[in-house]
Amino acid sequence: MKKSLLCFVLSLSLLFTHAQQTILQCGKLIDPQSGKVSSGVSIVIEGNKIVDVREGYITGNMGDKIIDLKNKTVMPGLMDMHVHLESQTSPTKYLDVFTMNDADVAFNSVRFAEVTLMSGFTTVRDLGGSGVNIALRNAIAMGTITGPRVITAGKSIATTGGHADPTNGYRRSLMGDPGPDAGVANGADECRKAVRQRYKEGSDLIKITASGGVLSVAKSGENPQFTEEELKAIIETAKDYGFKVAAHCHGAEAMKRAVRAGVNSIEHGTMMDDEIMGLMKERGTYYVPTITAGKSVADSAKKPGYYPAIITPKAIAIGSKIQNTFSRAYKAGVKIAFGTDAGVFMHGKNYKEFGYMVESGMPPMEAIRAATVNAADLLGMSDVIGTIEKGKMADIIAVSGDPLQNIEVMGQVKFVMKEGKVYKNVE
Ligand SMILES: [Zn+2]
Repeated sequence: MKKSLLCFVLSLSLLFTHAQQTILQCGKLIDPQSGKVSSGVSIVIEGNKIVDVREGYITGNMGDKIIDLKNKTVMPGLMDMHVHLESQTSPTKYLDVFTMNDADVAFNSVRFAEVTLMSGFTTVRDLGGSGVNIALRNAIAMGTITGPRVITAGKSIATTGGHADPTNGYRRSLMGDPGPDAGVANGADECRKAVRQRYKEGSDLIKITASGGVLSVAKSGENPQFTEEELKAIIETAKDYGFKVAAHCHGAEAMKRAVRAGVNSIEHGTMMDDEIMGLMKERGTYYVPTITAGKSVADSAKKPGYYPAIITPKAIAIGSKIQNTFSRAYKAGVKIAFGTDAGVFMHGKNYKEFGYMVESGMPPMEAIRAATVNAADLLGMSDVIGTIEKGKMADIIAVSGDPLQNIEVMGQVKFVMKEGKVYKNVE
């Protein structure tokens, strides 16, 4: 009698001292770090962290929550290193800037963030918007709205008339002369000021437009747009503030300058030649390909009137080349982190990039590694995210079927957990 009472009290105290855990029973578990797949594994989550990964299906203690993913393939939460959550492609986009207020942009971005998370992307890098992307990041982090963890550049930095000059194509009376505050900088001093302004506004990293771009209302999609002196000023200042630097780049000369100056990633990289690939390997510079954006702008350009006339030839010439560049860069051994430029096409379709990567010769496991382990490395967050192991943040997703056999299943994400919270769990 006494013994059973003791047992009862003990188990009761165990119930109260034992924090509730969530146990994911995983049919298959992909470890993109080692490239191994294990079967019949349980992941134990407490709060927002992974506390254990064990063989077999465990059931835990009374009060623990069991989630059955026995018929699914589980992997770390996906990460897209190049999105724009403030906007989405539309034939009215070039007019929208004149009619939409920040609040309109913000309400739309809430929708884009949610669809991104629900498609399995638990972390994204927002590489440029008006600054609403900073408020968006904060609202998601506070739990006010639903979305992926956002690492944001805030406003991109460009030179006058450059790819991210927000007044390109306006009539002169509306153009004005935007400066570092608006992300437009000329000369080393203004470049330093533009970086410091991003710090003041709360950006997480710096995005520069090192060459011309496809979707800006300007003639060249590839000309170099910063001098070496300007690039040096940006990178030195960024280092002072702990910022990494991502460089939008299509043209070769711009890319050489940016890599030599020490940027952390080249975005798009369309005209990347052997010399640049060698430089990137030497310096450990990441390539973020955005094949999906390239293909999608080339397609949209075929629809009459979809883009302003000055953009159409650039979209056709540049857009279709990126997949081939990716293929060459992969074979050359350049470090690759998954990135799509979502926003240039529909948010939530980020998974398409996986198909294009595999189509270009990258094995599915490596494509998943690019979107997890490599992305975490590029962010400098490998100690927090990117793999499923004890102590890491519980960012976990699952798909039906086997992505290593059929990469298209990456478009059918059935389970999404971010920081230990379940956002999606469907059959
Ligand atoms: Zn972009």
